[in-house]
Amino acid sequence: MQALFRLIPSMDKLIKSPQGTDLIHQFGHHAFVTQARSFIEEGRQQIVKNQTLPSFLQDESALFALIETSLQAMRQPQIKKVFNLTGTVLHTNLGRGLWSESAITAATDAMRHNVALEFDIEQGQRSHRDNAVSALISQLTGAEAACVVNNNAAAVLLMLATFAQGKEVIVSRGELVEIGGAFRIPDIMKQAGCTLVEVGTTNRTHLKDYRNAITENTALLMKVHTSNYQIQGFTSSVSEEELVELGKAFNLPVISDLGSGSLTDMTLLNLPAEPMAQQKVAAGVDLVSFSGDKFLGGPQAGIIVGKQAQIAALQAHPLKRVLRCDKVILSALEATLRHYLFPEKLTDELPTLHLLTQPLYVLKVKAEQLKQALSKHLTSNFNVQIEESVAQIGSGTLPTETLASIAVTISADKQSDLLALEQRFKAFSCPIIGRFAQQKFWLDLRSATQFEQLITMLEKE
Ligand SMILES: *Cc1c(COP(=O)(O)O)cnc(C)c1O
Repeated sequence: MQALFRLIPSMDKLIKSPQGTDLIHQFGHHAFVTQARSFIEEGRQQIVKNQTLPSFLQDESALFALIETSLQAMRQPQIKKVFNLTGTVLHTNLGRGLWSESAITAATDAMRHNVALEFDIEQGQRSHRDNAVSALISQLTGAEAACVVNNNAAAVLLMLATFAQGKEVIVSRGELVEIGGAFRIPDIMKQAGCTLVEVGTTNRTHLKDYRNAITENTALLMKVHTSNYQIQGFTSSVSEEELVELGKAFNLPVISDLGSGSLTDMTLLNLPAEPMAQQKVAAGVDLVSFSGDKFLGGPQAGIIVGKQAQIAALQAHPLKRVLRCDKVILSALEATLRHYLFPEKLTDELPTLHLLTQPLYVLKVKAEQLKQALSKHLTSNFNVQIEESVAQIGSGTLPTETLASIAVTISADKQSDLLALEQRFKAFSCPIIGRFAQQKFWLDLRSATQFEQLITMLEKE
């Protein structure tokens, strides 16, 4: 065994050899030594176990090849680009939507340049980082002011912590939502230091339920949009208008978490209705919060619009500093919001709205192209079809509000063949992510972006 150990090259020799020098030049001394050491250690263990010199230590070029492969692998980003053919357009696990070109330009400009983030160029003095976005949102929603934070979950936390810490917040039992990723209204209440007061029943809540629950400890009346479920049948809920009236009588602010929300009427685009922030503002709600990266089609952010005095209170809370957005997000959000000043062009400019509104005949043409490009990757044991499919908006929108779509479906006699195919699709330089349903693998065109690149990759690899 000692004789075998002596055949292992020394680290010093590896470092000084031409291949070693080259790898150090490419990947750095520390990374090279770390990888080389781990292979040498692996070799020692194999000698102890098998009493033979493992093949990768028999000649140095084999060892260098292994080291190089592992160093290359370490360079691969873990947050990889993927092709989303799941049929879920706003797929949270795949990073939700894409940004508009002008949002991308604004973001990259902000990365490369200093920007007037908290600086009023005309006055030559300090200003507030939310000003630019706030002015635009006011124009779009009729709200007096806005506050921008990291995401809508943060927006809800900030509203509750600012106005109801140590106090009670009244919410309908029918609106105690849980959104994916462990966002639950009762838990956020606890984190904000509020006491949740549930009123009504799961299916029916009346104005008198709120009124009867008001005590001297009540700080807020809250509405939560039931984004991802629907209560049907014998139901009743209280509108924002009614709550605002009740709030006025008791001098209590009303807040509303819209979830996705929208700044434009989705039904005009033949999409499911989504509550609009401007309607809630018009109804007199004090603070309305919504996401930047759901229907809005921008970067991850939480936007709160409302009355000047209440927004000022949010801005002054210490948590705002913790939850604020950086220059990249704010620049991209400003550019995204600017599209809403020209609503006729929204579906051209915003990728999410573009995907959601693509007509079926466009998806059919793409499906034909995809089927063609896939043919060289599929052996005769696979059956490939173009079928009608059902796509989803995603990101906590109603799972029942589906969108007609077109998919390329692949089936095989043996389920194991299909599973192996899924693995092969994931092994492309840019992995293709589809979904399994009805014993078939579905590649849905509704959510597919960068389609030309997808086809080029399938032709080349
Ligand atoms: C999605 C959602 C949230 C969380 O929004 P994020 O921007 O993902 O943090 C909060 N409330 C409701 C009702 C939602 O639908």
